[in-house]
Amino acid sequence: MSATAVPDSTVIAHTDPFVLSRRAAMLGAASLLALPAVGQQTKTKPLPPPPTLWPQALPVPGGVARLSLGPAAKRPVAHVRQGDADVPLLVVGDVIEWTAVVGIPLAATPGEAHITVLLDGGGTRQVPYTIAPKQYKEQHLKVPPRTVDLSPEDQARYERERDHQLQVMATFTDQPGGTALPSLRMRVPVPGRRSSSFGLRRVFNGQPRNPHSGMDIAAATGTPIVAPLAGRVIDVGDYFFNGGTVWLDHGQGLLSMVCHLSSMDVRVGDVLQAGDAFCKVGATGRVTGPHLHWGVMLNRTMVDPALFVPA
Ligand code: ZN
Repeated sequence: MSATAVPDSTVIAHTDPFVLSRRAAMLGAASLLALPAVGQQTKTKPLPPPPTLWPQALPVPGGVARLSLGPAAKRPVAHVRQGDADVPLLVVGDVIEWTAVVGIPLAATPGEAHITVLLDGGGTRQVPYTIAPKQYKEQHLKVPPRTVDLSPEDQARYERERDHQLQVMATFTDQPGGTALPSLRMRVPVPGRRSSSFGLRRVFNGQPRNPHSGMDIAAATGTPIVAPLAGRVIDVGDYFFNGGTVWLDHGQGLLSMVCHLSSMDVRVGDVLQAGDAFCKVGATGRVTGPHLHWGVMLNRTMVDPALFVPA
């Protein structure tokens, strides 16, 4: 890595202003207009799931695929190849039908993909799916060079923190005692205007950065943040880019992170119920103002939190 800080896609830099540019907002409106009208879906586009299924399926980069694994006496074990690792997948359901819920990396290439399911008697089978293309907005910013280049000390700190975060992200725990998770419908952790900037590609001084991999919610410093889903605290820290940060483990590789906190009222190992307040909005780390950055991770992949909450 050069002296220029190009954060890993799994660690989020926050030098972007919360408010999108007028041009980006217009691009957003244009892409909405480009959506097919209801009834025009082709065979390759699955119909949206009934609203009782969470997260919603959206098999695009940064989205979620829901793949039926059929019936089985116990929860099947499935994984997906990411880089040079076989990453375990979240599987929900019951003996009638199991479903693998697969996070698709923002950097994924659209086209054919598959997961691998372990068979009871040994061996494996593959379950194919198609990643549809999605064009995310792009934002070009000209900023003084000093604000994008890290000092050697900051660069070293960032790299240490990135390595630690990668370990946190690899957390995979089974649901205690159960074969199926309760609903994966999440609560929005804090009330406020939500950005639609997930996947936004930012280019600073002509250098592409990793895309924005969470949802920003406008809220004042000190506003309480609640757990989006029951979970266990697996990391509490103060990081260069993300500031005060707490990670929650919701089971089977479904994690959420909240960043830029002004206070963190939990410790690693604490167990939270959905709706429990556990930290407060702030403006710590590299941010331009107070807001909550909320990230949701499946199989070590940041996916769009909007798929987990009602609009
Ligand atoms: Zn953010």
